[in-house]
Amino acid sequence: MIPTVEFLQERFDHYNALCFEGTLPAIPIRLSNAQSFIGRLQYKPVRDWRRRIVRREDFVLRISTRFDLPQDEVEDTLIHEMIHYWIALRGVQDSSTHGKVFRAKMKEINEQHGRHLTISHRSTPEELDRDQRISKHWLCVSLLADGRTALTVCAQPCIRTIRRAFQHAGTIRSMSWYCSLDPWFNRFPRCRTPKLFPVDPAELQSHLTGAEELK
Ligand SMILES: [Zn+2]
Repeated sequence: MIPTVEFLQERFDHYNALCFEGTLPAIPIRLSNAQSFIGRLQYKPVRDWRRRIVRREDFVLRISTRFDLPQDEVEDTLIHEMIHYWIALRGVQDSSTHGKVFRAKMKEINEQHGRHLTISHRSTPEELDRDQRISKHWLCVSLLADGRTALTVCAQPCIRTIRRAFQHAGTIRSMSWYCSLDPWFNRFPRCRTPKLFPVDPAELQSHLTGAEELK
């Protein structure tokens, strides 16, 4: 989806109430055509005579409309920026950009609300598509009990362990295994433990055409 300001504003209010106890003041949300980021929080630091930041003002939340991302990813991006906003407002000095305070809040939201927020430098789809290294991928495509499709790119030595764990997972309705050289799969982490990454089934299917199904 390509988000609109109205959509983002509504989602902002929703997650503000859900994850931040409604403590975040309204913020101007602007759409951007940027290719270098998906979401970004901007503000002006106000400094005292010792150049220390005393407060932050003129907050603006920018979301890029250059990418057609799944709604979940747009919302995760929005919530990610809302954590930055929450930290900036409280004047908390975190240990780094995505430091201890950020990670603790992110973990809390992921656990309590089933989100998939990350702190990895989120590459743009163009950056991801540019990764054309060829290597063998061992893939497990799972149909989840809730109807979603999930992908797991497995590290080869861990296939058996992951397969066994998935066979006993109540959340998985069925699974199929493939081997593929498609560089599209480079964007997923190679799992050594059973992890599921929900994916768009149509997009996944288009990258499975050349894959070999494993029995
Ligand atoms: Zn961030």
